[in-house]
Amino acid sequence: MAELEGLEFGKSDFVLLDEVTMEQFMENLKLRFEKGRIYTFIGEVVVSVNPYRHMDIYGKENIEAYRGRELYENPPHLYAVSDAAYKAMKRRAKDTCIVISGESGAGKTEASKYIMQYIAAITNPSQRAEVESVKNVLLKSNCVLEAFGNAKTNRNDNSSRFGKYMDINFNFNGDPTGGHINNYLLEKSRVVQQQNGERNFHSFYQLLRGGSPEMLEAFHLQSNPALYVYTREGTSSNDRSNHKAVMTALEVIGFSKEEIDSVYRILATILLLGNIQFESDGEDVRIVDLDAVNHIAELTATEPDNVSKGLLYRTVATGGGEVIEKGHSEQDACFGRDAFAKALYERLFGWIVGRINSVIEVKDYNPVLHGKNTVIGVLDIYGFEIFDNNSFEQFCINYCNEKLQQLFIELILRQEQDEYQREGITWQHIDYFNNQIIVDLVEQPHKGIISILDEACLTVGKVTDTVCLDSMNTKLAQHPHYTSRKLNPTDKTLDFQKHFRIRHYAGDVTYSVEGFLDKNKDLLFQDFKRLMYNSANPVLTEMWPDGQLSITEVTKRPLTAATLFKNSIVALVDKLACKEPYYVRCIKPNEMKSPMLFDDARCQHQVAYLGLLENVRVRRAGFAYRQLYARFLQRYKMTCEYTWPNHLMASDREAVEAIVTQHGFQDDVAYGHSKLFVRTPRSLFTLEQERAAL
Ligand code: ATP
Ligand code: MG
Repeated sequence: MAELEGLEFGKSDFVLLDEVTMEQFMENLKLRFEKGRIYTFIGEVVVSVNPYRHMDIYGKENIEAYRGRELYENPPHLYAVSDAAYKAMKRRAKDTCIVISGESGAGKTEASKYIMQYIAAITNPSQRAEVESVKNVLLKSNCVLEAFGNAKTNRNDNSSRFGKYMDINFNFNGDPTGGHINNYLLEKSRVVQQQNGERNFHSFYQLLRGGSPEMLEAFHLQSNPALYVYTREGTSSNDRSNHKAVMTALEVIGFSKEEIDSVYRILATILLLGNIQFESDGEDVRIVDLDAVNHIAELTATEPDNVSKGLLYRTVATGGGEVIEKGHSEQDACFGRDAFAKALYERLFGWIVGRINSVIEVKDYNPVLHGKNTVIGVLDIYGFEIFDNNSFEQFCINYCNEKLQQLFIELILRQEQDEYQREGITWQHIDYFNNQIIVDLVEQPHKGIISILDEACLTVGKVTDTVCLDSMNTKLAQHPHYTSRKLNPTDKTLDFQKHFRIRHYAGDVTYSVEGFLDKNKDLLFQDFKRLMYNSANPVLTEMWPDGQLSITEVTKRPLTAATLFKNSIVALVDKLACKEPYYVRCIKPNEMKSPMLFDDARCQHQVAYLGLLENVRVRRAGFAYRQLYARFLQRYKMTCEYTWPNHLMASDREAVEAIVTQHGFQDDVAYGHSKLFVRTPRSLFTLEQERAAL
């Protein structure tokens, strides 16, 4: 908590505010932003404000300044938390994680890249080739994942449309030995449709704009994205150069020529699929352009007849166990085509992540030979979203943010308070909003929104989105965080047939139920899966293992999209909860992507819902460091004449008191039942220095 920068830049740690009020917090945040100080601590938490301009603070000298230093020795920076997480991992063999949160465009992905660059820069001083290669793949994977998983939205030109959690594994030397990426719910609906002003995933434009003329010709494509239904909206000048970078990254990571070729063939297939149209004479449905069918068959190494059949018919098992082919209506055919395009992209993305994992996964690690394998996890997941039109995807994303906020409360606020209580330390309770009630609203078995959606999806017959909304209205009528027009007839902003609203911890969001059931069911006709599994291209076969099942073997009640997502987020939270957490809380200064503007109201709203004031209060009332008496004694007994080599006092606690008193920081500590609590890290720093000097 050092005043390292001079007061003209404001307080470098919010804990140092004269008074913990919203006014003072905002004043300090704004002053620092205006002075180009985008990072500020709350103890070990870093608050970051997106500068929307290049900052000269990420160079080699900056890295050197933070390397191996204590948190409070340097001005606030992402590098300071990265180093703290790294040190905890290396010195204490702790698994740690860095959780980056904030809304869309707040700077999470940029932060995660700086953190990874820092860790890469400070490890492997002896330049061992195998470690360098792991680091290289970890860094290069960002470029590939951004190409396939990011898109321009109205909030952010490079918005992550998937969640990413990356574990980096370290050996006992503290050098990276491998890693693993988990991806969460890709927003695949974007493949077939985008809101006004938004784009499809970058990868499509990169292929069209950056692919060589030979490649495009071989794929039956033309370079103009406006010619394809799925990519009609916008291009950008970076698409061409980014295409090259992605190709290189894929090669460096270790994708074979055939694999890279397959990746782009699948993208081409999706673009051609999007242009397929159907016509009907009232009875039979036909495909308008049969050339496109031939091209798709060629690109996917399948038979044109089978492609046509997949687009026009579906195989169904009758009640009597008979298998028949049923022709689609024109509407069903369009639905099937789009579902196929979305699934192709989703599987491609999943396969790319899996392929990267297979390269970086830790192999032949022997804990006896190599010591404990420790992990630093970095989480960069979509932030809370409120759009003009909020659908199933926003519902899932916002639920995920509720879960992460719950974890933050659990780890930073509640555990802290509980421990003081347990240890008998005098402590004034800090009030905070516990969002468990909203988490329950969404995920509770039988009663929660996901359960109600699932029930509607499993009901045979025509259950519409509106019927499902009715069912939610009945079951959730009493819930303080749920409302709809039916429950609140005077609210004209809500539509009777369409809307429900959740009062999230970060604000009210109105969801439109239209499409919820289809997206939750996530139905893809088995015929498409079989078609892909039977492709002569082994990459496609690998992506579609479930295509080997015949229609009679397919499970009738597959897990829904919402339930699968919930399960993956619950697993993620479990994974994070058993690690020592470090937090980066990102704030978006304005909606204009402007480096000059600090929009007071928008920023204050974010500070409020991120719970930053409560965080400061808990921190201020709290203690930065705590240790069991016996362990503290073990580490520092040599710094005090009464405890070295052994003490003659009645208890370890008294011996620790002797050390504390001899060093004169008795005002900076509190004695718990089993632990010593130290308020500022500086006292500890003194002890560490003395210990090292002996
Ligand atoms: P989403 O949830 O939509 O993925 P995000 O929080 O990941 O959003 P980023 O993509 O990291 O947001 O940041 C948005 C943009 O803001 C970046 O493309 C970049 O232009 C700018 N930006 C963010 N952080 C920084 C930084 N530290 N320095 C300079 N520019 C930045
Ligand atoms: Mg992002």
